[in-house]
Amino acid sequence: MKPRVVIVPALIALAATTAIAQTDPKATEQWAPVPKVVAPGKQDSAPPSDAVVLFDGHDIDKWEASKDHSPAHWKVHDGVLTVDKATGNIQTKQRFGSYQLHLEWQVPANITGEGQARGNSGVFLASTGPGDEGYEIQIMDSWKNPTYVNGQAASVYKQAAPLVNAMHPPGEWQSYDIVWTAPVFTANGKAKTPAYVTLFHNGVLVQNHTELTGETFYIGKPKYNAYKDAPIKLQAHGDPSAPISFRNIWVRPLD
Ligand code: MG
Repeated sequence: MKPRVVIVPALIALAATTAIAQTDPKATEQWAPVPKVVAPGKQDSAPPSDAVVLFDGHDIDKWEASKDHSPAHWKVHDGVLTVDKATGNIQTKQRFGSYQLHLEWQVPANITGEGQARGNSGVFLASTGPGDEGYEIQIMDSWKNPTYVNGQAASVYKQAAPLVNAMHPPGEWQSYDIVWTAPVFTANGKAKTPAYVTLFHNGVLVQNHTELTGETFYIGKPKYNAYKDAPIKLQAHGDPSAPISFRNIWVRPLD
């Protein structure tokens, strides 16, 4: 009998607490942790105060050649960075997990060629090798230039076409704003959680939390290869058309 005397008041107290929780607005207020205050840039595209600026128009000290980690040799001129196809891909010296990335790119006004051979480059959100290994968001001229849709600009290469084609014509600057959620791997190298990417092309949503099924390959199905933190890589594609240029590149790590 004695335990029942104890249990009944406890149940009454629990019921009272539950009733308060259902009527008190404070019960659903979250007060901690307090989000960090970040001063937004003066323009939408200017780096916020907590960004890592990867290219500000002056030098490419934050970058190296992917093939041998030697200094990057792409040409900086007039505040922009132009692909040097002869020296190959470049990548950040710093490695990243998940992040927000902003970059701007321009196809030359006098671009020639067609399909994939017209202003092809790319941004690899995580580079896992010196060549084209990793996770590529396609960069190329997709202004009135048909190609396979999961290989056009703003595609997750060979995995997901953009929701819309938000291209500006050649000669105009384009922007990418990307949210990259890096894949997480188990100790034995299996993907525990996949990679996701959200992409705004010129401010227009073109990839909406797209789930990746692995690295992006030119030939063959996507496949995950375990890694932990990786450089961001820009592609020196071998097509014969005029090289494209970049400016205003910054990243905000989210880990
Ligand atoms: Mg490419």
